[in-house]
Amino acid sequence: MQFNPRYPSLNPKLYHQQMPIPLKGAKAGHFNEALADQLQWSQQEKTEWVEICSGQKTFAEFHPLAMVYAGHQFGQWAGQLGDGRGLLIAQVLDKNNQTIDLHLKGAGSTPYSRMGDGRAVLRSVIREYLAGHALTHLGIPSSNSVGFTSSTQGVQREKLELGAMMLRTSDCHIRLGHFEWINQYQPELLPEFTQKCMEWHYPECLDAEQPLLAFASKVIQRTAVMISKWQLIGFAHGVMNTDNLNITGSTLDFGPYGFMERFRPNWINNHSDYNSRYTYQNQPSIAHWNLWNWLNNLIPLAKPEEKEKFKQDLAHCLEHFETTFLEHYKQGLCQKMGLPNFHKDSFDCGMAFLNILQSEQLDYTASFIRLQNQEYEALKDDCLDRRQFEAFLTQYETIRTNQDIDALDAAMFEANPIYILRNHMAQKAIELAERNDFSEVDRLFKLLSQPFTQQTDLEKAEDLAPLPSDVPEVMVSCSS
Ligand code: AMP
Ligand code: MG
Repeated sequence: MQFNPRYPSLNPKLYHQQMPIPLKGAKAGHFNEALADQLQWSQQEKTEWVEICSGQKTFAEFHPLAMVYAGHQFGQWAGQLGDGRGLLIAQVLDKNNQTIDLHLKGAGSTPYSRMGDGRAVLRSVIREYLAGHALTHLGIPSSNSVGFTSSTQGVQREKLELGAMMLRTSDCHIRLGHFEWINQYQPELLPEFTQKCMEWHYPECLDAEQPLLAFASKVIQRTAVMISKWQLIGFAHGVMNTDNLNITGSTLDFGPYGFMERFRPNWINNHSDYNSRYTYQNQPSIAHWNLWNWLNNLIPLAKPEEKEKFKQDLAHCLEHFETTFLEHYKQGLCQKMGLPNFHKDSFDCGMAFLNILQSEQLDYTASFIRLQNQEYEALKDDCLDRRQFEAFLTQYETIRTNQDIDALDAAMFEANPIYILRNHMAQKAIELAERNDFSEVDRLFKLLSQPFTQQTDLEKAEDLAPLPSDVPEVMVSCSS
């Protein structure tokens, strides 16, 4: 690996250096060799992946550290948070010369653990491992993982579970909540910290006429694009607290996330979210709220006499969130539908299709595949209100008349996955892994590597549809 340690150059008040505390009886779970190659792991490092992904082996080039941050959780100021069970164990250059963080999750308690035990359980590690992999291959910016290990050590949650560790990769572990911590507890660190964030993640902004505004705009833009991609694929993050969104707009900190099955805009996968704050349909407005909150943390950077103008400029930057989100969402929905983006009725027609999915409680992913395969009769047969479907189909075919159908169809195939990670798929893999059988993790890992390509040799019928509606859903909560 080629190390590029840059976080340790920050003021030491922003982190705590410590070594991982390995679990008893660490053993192999799964290894993502393609990602290790992308990270330029040597043969020796690959051979030692279990030691690395279980905290038994660290690197002389980087002293592991826990970051401190703060945040708003479920809309309330939560004060100091931080890496309570994860350590940044390296920053390395990948094949594209991009700096990537390696973060070991479940590595033991830190000064930021609060009441937690510093551990992660096998269940949540597998959920995060597979989801990061799935999103990455769906083309959605996301953390991913090089590998995970299980152990023989019990960790108490609602019941006793197995402890596990995962080596997560991300282009950035700096959260919106980092800025909140600095302003609340060490405001004098803000100028240098912001400068480093720009140098590391948005160097192009340094040459802009107004670097801070350029930086703010970029963070807003990348977040809006990420959220539009979540909405289009049907992904619900579950805990969009300000400490779980980073400044580069790549998905981070999966907990009670879910991939939408039956189309329900007010769907919430997180059974701990009692007020339904983080429903699927709320994600764009919650991201907007988080960004508004974050922008307030940049205001101290303006000179006193320029503060009012700066506030107005930031508000103006934030207006672009909605336009960027809508532009990407509309374009993406038209692509999924096989409709031309420029046609004035395409977006309405897409919304009409979503209305049908909602009122008929149809599976989001499978229904787009049916549309893509032109299985209109089968789609109609799924509907109780057949007239509604026929009206939609007439409009749909009218818009597609005289268009470049081959190009529209080819674009559809790139936008509509056949495979997503349904909760029951992850659950099956977890139950087997808890009995030391990782074959289902491996099967899903392979399947989700190519979500747009049919893999008849690997797929199972249950990968393609939701569970029958009378089967109780898998309960997913914040406990992990
Ligand atoms: P999350 O909701 O998973 O993003 O976690 C919120 C905060 O709680 C973060 O600062 C985590 O590091 C911390 N945390 C979550 N679970 C644990 C745990 N088991 N032990 C210590 N800290 C934890
Ligand atoms: Mg978190």
